[in-house]
Amino acid sequence: MSKVRTRFAPSPTGRMHVGNLRTALYAYLIAKHEDGDFILRIEDTDQERFVDGALEIIYHTLEETGLVHDEGPDKDGGVGPYVQSERNKSGLYLKYAKQLIEQGDAYYCFCDKERLESLKSKVDGEGSAEIVVYDKHCLGLSKEEVQANLDAGKPYVIRFNMPTEGTTTFKDDIYGDITVPNNELEDLILIKSDGYPTYNFANVIDDHLMGITHVVRGNEYLSSAPKYNKIYEAFGWEIPTYVHCPLITDETHKKLSKRCGHSSYEDLIDQGFVKEAVVNYVALLGWCPSDNREIFSLEELVKAFDYRHMSKSPAVFDIVKLKWMNGEY
Ligand code: GLU
Ligand code: ZN
Repeated sequence: MSKVRTRFAPSPTGRMHVGNLRTALYAYLIAKHEDGDFILRIEDTDQERFVDGALEIIYHTLEETGLVHDEGPDKDGGVGPYVQSERNKSGLYLKYAKQLIEQGDAYYCFCDKERLESLKSKVDGEGSAEIVVYDKHCLGLSKEEVQANLDAGKPYVIRFNMPTEGTTTFKDDIYGDITVPNNELEDLILIKSDGYPTYNFANVIDDHLMGITHVVRGNEYLSSAPKYNKIYEAFGWEIPTYVHCPLITDETHKKLSKRCGHSSYEDLIDQGFVKEAVVNYVALLGWCPSDNREIFSLEELVKAFDYRHMSKSPAVFDIVKLKWMNGEY
């Protein structure tokens, strides 16, 4: 079997949510349990969502909690993370998108905002849905039409050409097989009009190029995962093992949010919890050790962590339990 390689791939969009910390921790534990590599990759190609200071929070939290990553381009003599906006400068993602165009698996789309807006109203009468189901209009352009548009400097995006018939089955190691009809998969955008790859595309390309064996992430990404299969298939690449982590809720069983006052790592540290207790507690949000032990150091977690004992059902964040744990440190 090849060496286990996992990654934490945050987008710098704000605080270090408890869910983000757990994703980073599980990815770290899965790799280290097998003596593998843990990689840090900053997914910052969606520049509009970029929040000042968010990168520093990510670096700081990982450092404090001991989730040290293994490799990356050399920065100031140290080990730096991979940063997608930097990687994009070499035209890396565009090169792969162009390969797909040549194969007939992707195409240039020159539709302007107005046209896309009109599609939106066609799909949902009330104009409430955000999703525009693209009608493959530009797939019908001839080679000459495409070239003329490119020569004229018309703005474009590159879209994936999803099949419209049949079904796709996505395999998740925690949630099992998920089958969706292909006509529900949209022709997702791979390269945006600003030249940056979309989060979805850069994510798949880099998981492949970085030899990621286990993709660990929150279950809010579960529904978009079947689309990824199609990109892997188009390239003829092996699909990694997917490990989606269960939702974390507050005491009222609603998704853990800022409102509850303890939804981020910073909140918890500000409230006086020690970092070891936070890491220990977060590890148990969706994973159950085989014995009844509750107190673990990071090294002990590395030894004990078996991701196959993760649960599907939502984990409830219990501040009382964290308080108890905090007293044990
Ligand atoms: N960049 C995504 C995020 O910050 C992570 C997606 C993934 O781990 O695949 O939420
Ligand atoms: Zn179009």
